[in-house]
Amino acid sequence: MAPLTASQRLVVKIGSALLVDRASGELRADWLRQLAQDVAWLMGQGTEVVLVSSGSIALGRRVLALPDIDLALDQSQAAAAVGQIQLARAYEEALSPLGIVTAQVLVTLEDSQDRRRYLNSRATLEQLISLGVVPIVNENDTVATDEIRYGDNDRLAAQIAVTIGADQLVLLSDVDGFYNANPQEDDNARRFDVIDVITPEIEAMAGDAGSGLSKGGMKTKLIAAKTATAAGCAMAISNGFSARPLFALNEGVNSTWFLANGDPKSARKRWIAAMKPMGSIALDQGAVAALGRGKSLLPAGVSGVNGDFLRGDPVEIIAPNGQSIGLGLSRYTAGEVALIRGHKSTEIEDLLGYPGRSVLIHRDDMSL
Ligand code: GLU
Repeated sequence: MAPLTASQRLVVKIGSALLVDRASGELRADWLRQLAQDVAWLMGQGTEVVLVSSGSIALGRRVLALPDIDLALDQSQAAAAVGQIQLARAYEEALSPLGIVTAQVLVTLEDSQDRRRYLNSRATLEQLISLGVVPIVNENDTVATDEIRYGDNDRLAAQIAVTIGADQLVLLSDVDGFYNANPQEDDNARRFDVIDVITPEIEAMAGDAGSGLSKGGMKTKLIAAKTATAAGCAMAISNGFSARPLFALNEGVNSTWFLANGDPKSARKRWIAAMKPMGSIALDQGAVAALGRGKSLLPAGVSGVNGDFLRGDPVEIIAPNGQSIGLGLSRYTAGEVALIRGHKSTEIEDLLGYPGRSVLIHRDDMSL
């Protein structure tokens, strides 16, 4: 498995049990400082880092003196609202002395299911990353009800990894990997070093239980692994309790790696290629040549538009000879494309009456 330092874009999920002391309910600030050093070290090696952190409910329940039992949904939401402020501040306080700017990003399940919202959160995360910021992501627990929430940050972290095209995802947990049986109950349980395919046998080995503060058990970690690896992102489950946990993982500490199916770019292209187009956009010859050179599609190169698509919808890309040359996600609606086609990107604001994006279909959103 490639070391973490070889990762271009890394998502690290931090479970509540690592961040918040079970007995006292207090932030484990020393541990967080160690993690911050890991993040600074990886960024120094050129790896972009996004953190997905749980802990808002665990921190908030202590402040509100809520009982140490399963909370009702609205109680957890109240706890999350209180704890999220503390969580964001804790990361800021740990990372800013190392010269790292942090951002709080709260997402819901719908942000990944709705293609327009997905594109919005993707664009924001991309922008933050390109500015050298470390986004600290959590579920927006205060607005998410049971039916529409992730509820666990394992799957959320996998979704974030897919959204931003990360090549590695690390779930820092209170276990050191994936076992063929529950190691707490079975002395003969064996840990896998590497899992290259998630077979039904592997799935049958995942128990259900989560540990006290966190919702995710092995089941949610396996679902996360499936999501990530199918999108070309390798995933590790590693024990976060060691000092400098990411450094330790890089040095080969006990863990389980789930191998990626291809790379994020080609996985994204496969995903787009399998979509059903909602319309089409016809190009001039110059634009076809530009796409061939790996460029994005600009409004200036568009000669016609068909269908009734919305922002984020897949559209067919048509060459002047009438042949389809691929699919792409449009950053404009069909109506908007009709207005801006053939025009320079600098004219978009005048034509639409509001500022738009310079690119109509980004090269990362295209499968040719
Ligand atoms: N979003 C929840 C929190 O921050 C955690 C979900 C999980 O434990 O995975 O407390």
